[in-house]
Amino acid sequence: MFESLLQELLHPEPTAHLYANTDFTQLNWFEMQWVNWYLWIDNPILATGLMSFVLHEIVYFGRCIPWIIVDAIPYFNRWKLQPGKVPSPKDQWECTKLVLLTHFTVEIPQIWLFHPMAEALGMQTWQVPFPNWKTMAVQVAIFFVLEDFWHYFAHKSLHYGPLYKRIHKIHHKYSAPFGLAAEYAHPLEVLILGVGVIGGPMLYCFLTGEMHIATVYLWISVKLFQTIDAHSGYDFPWSLRHILPFWGGADYHDFHHMSFINNYASCFRWLDYLLGTDDKFRAYKARVAAVSAKDRQAVEQQILDDTEKEGLRAQKEAEDAGIAAAWNSSSKREVPAQ
Ligand SMILES: [Zn+2]
Ligand SMILES: [Zn+2]
Repeated sequence: MFESLLQELLHPEPTAHLYANTDFTQLNWFEMQWVNWYLWIDNPILATGLMSFVLHEIVYFGRCIPWIIVDAIPYFNRWKLQPGKVPSPKDQWECTKLVLLTHFTVEIPQIWLFHPMAEALGMQTWQVPFPNWKTMAVQVAIFFVLEDFWHYFAHKSLHYGPLYKRIHKIHHKYSAPFGLAAEYAHPLEVLILGVGVIGGPMLYCFLTGEMHIATVYLWISVKLFQTIDAHSGYDFPWSLRHILPFWGGADYHDFHHMSFINNYASCFRWLDYLLGTDDKFRAYKARVAAVSAKDRQAVEQQILDDTEKEGLRAQKEAEDAGIAAAWNSSSKREVPAQ
């Protein structure tokens, strides 16, 4: 397997042969660009690897830039979930350095190996045309549900003391997250949570034999938007969670970074609700909703301060005891004051 892969990488069959039976008049603009890319690189493994890496960088940093601008404009502070905790340019730069280091060291091999793994499962890569948009939309929706499920249990496991201390602690450096911090994490965490992102398409392809890598790219792009927006630290009146009540969004994940023992899911609210790990979050929302508009800001700030203090205690306890604050005790557990 490895030898044939190396052979294919070093001495690939000319890509033009692959398109010998393709009717180019039937292709749309995107599909033509796709063909041109594969013909230009003339090595399918390299073409897929490069495209995957470049796409990830463009979407990740492309989506983070608007949030960096929002952080730089005080006007937007009114929608900041933890007001006054706007990241400084130094914070953003430190974060960018680690994210870039991870991308260039840990992610490149993973992305490179993706093409042969995908082909071994029968996934289409260089082929055109793409599936129709309805097929892609349904598949992306399925990947969202699968990823959310994986993320919940993997993330909750990462809060188990020894794993937290060695792996997940890095991601929790920021109790008030910002867009760039979405992938600020230990390489092993990137790998573990990445399984949820790539595993869905792989499993789907394995079970049905139908999957085009263009759908996987669409899914990864939408997923990057979701995770960066969830870390943005802003909840606008037009944010998606106001339209889709089951959507996680920034207020949901911000609270995870602050409270430490609530809201483990990535995209949706239902798993935390069903498994009782959103009790503090819902109590906070209910208390804020119950007070008059005049007192709301002060009450909200008080609850946020208390939640953060409690979160810090839970975090410290997980580190010190080596036993999860979250995993083996209910989220109703009282953390003793220290
Ligand atoms: Zn966490
Ligand atoms: Zn996070």
